[in-house]
Amino acid sequence: MKTITLPNLPGHPHVAYNGPTLQIEQVTASSVAEAFGTPTYVYSRTAIEEAAQRYSQAAAASPVHVALRYAVKANSTLAVLQLLARLGWGFDIVSGGELKRVLAAGGDAAKVVFSGVGKTAEEMRLALDVGVECFNVESPSELAALDRVAQAAGKVARVALRVNPDVDAGTHPYISTGLKTNKFGISQDQATRLALQTAQMGHVKLVGIASHIGSQITTVEPYLDALDKVLDLVEDIERRGAKIEHIDLGGGLGIRYTDETPPTPQQWLQPLLARMVSRGFGHRTVMIEPGRSIVGNAGVLLTRTLFLKSTPAKHFAVVDAGMNDLIRPALYAAEQMVVPAERREGNALKYDLVGPVCESADWLARDRALVLEEGDLLAVLSSGAYGMVMASNYNSRGRPAEVMVEGASTTLIRPRETVEQLYASERLLP
Ligand SMILES: *Cc1c(COP(=O)(O)O)cnc(C)c1O
Repeated sequence: MKTITLPNLPGHPHVAYNGPTLQIEQVTASSVAEAFGTPTYVYSRTAIEEAAQRYSQAAAASPVHVALRYAVKANSTLAVLQLLARLGWGFDIVSGGELKRVLAAGGDAAKVVFSGVGKTAEEMRLALDVGVECFNVESPSELAALDRVAQAAGKVARVALRVNPDVDAGTHPYISTGLKTNKFGISQDQATRLALQTAQMGHVKLVGIASHIGSQITTVEPYLDALDKVLDLVEDIERRGAKIEHIDLGGGLGIRYTDETPPTPQQWLQPLLARMVSRGFGHRTVMIEPGRSIVGNAGVLLTRTLFLKSTPAKHFAVVDAGMNDLIRPALYAAEQMVVPAERREGNALKYDLVGPVCESADWLARDRALVLEEGDLLAVLSSGAYGMVMASNYNSRGRPAEVMVEGASTTLIRPRETVEQLYASERLLP
């Protein structure tokens, strides 16, 4: 396991040291912890808005029309969705619950694309009733079900077929989605047949072809490979008389957690859009669905050191955040930087950061050189995406508070969950 040395906080434009003191924008990490307790997720509003604007600017500079759809599953807190809605973004959702969140945050249903491999009839009905712009369909059975639900609702569902382009995005197996062995998407042969079948169905209208090949992807090549396969398919389908309005390239652009060097939105989009133009598809809409790269490096998780514990084999820092609060390390062996809220002088020891949850998988970081004392506050960087959204109540732990910082101001956007809330709807036996 490699040691990550402290810091220069790569990739975190609005998290920095002012002398020994860690700040998110102009707010010290310790003042947030004092006001709201720990563990707490803290987001920089400026960082979220700048990340979104980098996409908007890359889109505006292009001759191809680009539709921006934030992937809600990366961070679905209402205040985060509200920021993106105000910037004019649409949303990529994977459940009826996410759709309700988007609407509650002021999002526009007409800019919502509904992805996901297992939509229920109720979710389809809700999405039709509010008028989402497109369903990204992942199987023949789903298409048939959607046609039935739309018929019952007296509507026509706009549909994109999500194809599985069978490209290896070179990412962690749990977050790759574009291999033919993954559950996602429709094979290219089947997609052509299905596209032609839609013409015979009364309540679905084929408007797009979609692909999403994975997450935390740090090179453009897999996207170019996928795009070429999608465009081959579009040519094939259109030769047989159907018409495709938009091509959805999905999300998945990576961020810098430790030493990755992902392309910027501009470096990512430019070659893809150039390929669209050179292959004669410059007049189609391109849809993109970034999630992680909008919010990932805009958030940190603050956690306090409860105990330092040394065994013959290891030094452990037992902290008050666990795998229920941030599961990425346990789930994907993800590495995120950990930095102190106040830097201390002294000799660093190599610590494993572990939480209070009763599982050996309950770790946040391994072999990190830190100068630590009990009670010290730490920040787990790059926690804005797939952090709070994956938090659970395992061990009857309430989920963390969430705070949005802008300049010198802080807003509590979700209070810490209480234990009473956890069992409020439970019933004792008579
Ligand atoms: C998860 C997901 C995204 C977003 O992926 P990121 O890696 O967070 O950018 C976009 N589209 C679909 C269909 C997804 O499942």
